[in-house]
Amino acid sequence: MSSEVETSREVATGYATGFLDCARNDVYGWPSTFQFNNFSAFVMIMKCKFGLGVLIIMASLDANAESKPSATLIVTNAVVYTVDKQQAKAEAVAVIGDRIVSVGSRADIDLWRGPNTKLIDAGGKLLLPGFNDAHVHFIQGGEQLEQVQLTDAATPEEFAERIAAQVKKTSPGEWILGGRWDETKWPKPELPTKDLLDSVTGDIPVFVDRYDGHEALANSAAMKRAGVDAKTPDVAGGVITRDANGNPTGIFKDAAMPLIYKAIAPMTHEQRLRAARGALKHAASLGVTSVQHMNPEFADVAAYSELAEKGELTARIYAVPMETDWREQAKVGIRRAWGSSFLRLGGVKGYADGSLGSRTAYMFEPFTDDPGNRGLLSDEMHPPSAMRDRLMQADAAGLQLRVHAIGDRAISMMLDIFADIEKEHGYHDQRFAVEHAQHMAQKDFERFAKLHVIASMQPYHAIDDGRWAEGRLGHERARYSYAWRSFLDHGVTLAFGTDWPVAPLDPMLGLYAAVTRATVDGKNPEGWIPEEKISLPEAVAAYTMGAAFAEFQDREKGSITPGKLADIVILSDNIFDLKPEVIRDVKVKTTIVGGKVVYGER
Ligand SMILES: [Zn+2]
Repeated sequence: MSSEVETSREVATGYATGFLDCARNDVYGWPSTFQFNNFSAFVMIMKCKFGLGVLIIMASLDANAESKPSATLIVTNAVVYTVDKQQAKAEAVAVIGDRIVSVGSRADIDLWRGPNTKLIDAGGKLLLPGFNDAHVHFIQGGEQLEQVQLTDAATPEEFAERIAAQVKKTSPGEWILGGRWDETKWPKPELPTKDLLDSVTGDIPVFVDRYDGHEALANSAAMKRAGVDAKTPDVAGGVITRDANGNPTGIFKDAAMPLIYKAIAPMTHEQRLRAARGALKHAASLGVTSVQHMNPEFADVAAYSELAEKGELTARIYAVPMETDWREQAKVGIRRAWGSSFLRLGGVKGYADGSLGSRTAYMFEPFTDDPGNRGLLSDEMHPPSAMRDRLMQADAAGLQLRVHAIGDRAISMMLDIFADIEKEHGYHDQRFAVEHAQHMAQKDFERFAKLHVIASMQPYHAIDDGRWAEGRLGHERARYSYAWRSFLDHGVTLAFGTDWPVAPLDPMLGLYAAVTRATVDGKNPEGWIPEEKISLPEAVAAYTMGAAFAEFQDREKGSITPGKLADIVILSDNIFDLKPEVIRDVKVKTTIVGGKVVYGER
């Protein structure tokens, strides 16, 4: 190793360490290099929260000008939008190792150039911090990339044709899973039954999900293997849909779904690795550099762990297992944000209710199109005090709490639980999150803000569900659905994501949805509940800094800031110059994670 490389590395390490120590104490830094003849210095001017100006010289007079720190990577000739208020715009970025060391003009950054610096000319394109998806089911998404696709099947006939095609690819003993069908797109939007499957599947068992994951359709072969028939008793927190004679129609909702799942062999480790690799490749192609995997199985974490060890993770993963398993993390002393920059644990994910699509979101008032039905609490909420007690203990153990709540009443109940926990443990920067937070009671925005609860939301759901949500909720109650503007106006932190594979992983669709609220059926070109649109800078911030905050990583990533991880995306077009309706067509040119190109020209 040449001495220059060694020196660079030492300086980079010294710099990164210095910065991080400061960062923990609310210090902002602006590093730069100074060069006069054979004198080279690496200087960081820092502003502490007490207003002190500090000058730190990390490398000083050196007879050998060769020893100045040089960047390992420079991205130049870019329109840099940093998501950092200290320095909102720039033209170029210098990276040493996996960290950003300087952000500035092309001339400033050129000073970091050395003989071994890799140079990327962005060709005047827009450079953003990598996207952080605050809510995904990543391995399941990867698995779905290989499965039958039913979401855009426009008729029951097309649904059956696609299943029939998948049957040909399926070996005996294997199941047909996934699918993500959506009956609201059919001419007659009625739930399918097993009969639609049985004629084309024979002995091959099928259990295909509705796109929201809250109900699924089994064929007769699947029910036979699972031992489910007319005599199977109902399940609390779930529904076995039955015909007039009490025979299951094939539709299983929420807590009734495991009746079939238990008959399916779990994925093998090799299958999980394959799915994770597929998901990572997909994420890199979309500029997604961090993901927060909600309720992974521990076997998923094991797959990530192996990929981390092999250096194959091209997205950073925060794995947030089920709250019912909180002890598993607590007993080995794992606390929030525990782990490496690539793989972390330390949170727990719960479910308070179901979904709006399945009419299992838990509401104060009955659904407009289903009087008498107010939705369902999840089995974890039977009774709510059990959820409260587990979350109380998980919080005491230092674990972050992230809970799915969609209906206004479920959200309200979660705020009650969070308030109880804060009352008992005091405010401790706990960053509780309500996942989805879809249909708010107006009175609860203020409580949300007061309790510092993060709204972890998926903008694409609004333009997808917006096709039919008003039918379920009525006009007045729909007003505070996917209410991003109201959340921001109340000072609530928004963290954006997709819930992939529930919705596509592409962040461009999320940004498009957040600024247009134009439903996918083309019926609301000016926006469905346009009052709740937000600006593009706000949407980008929710998808980067907001999501980083939700995983306690806002000092490590989420903006193009010296000292932070070099997670960067270069887009095909400048979304800030485009008409909002074409943002969804923008593609990713290059994705960089930790200073390494993981997608695009290398
Ligand atoms: Zn989810």
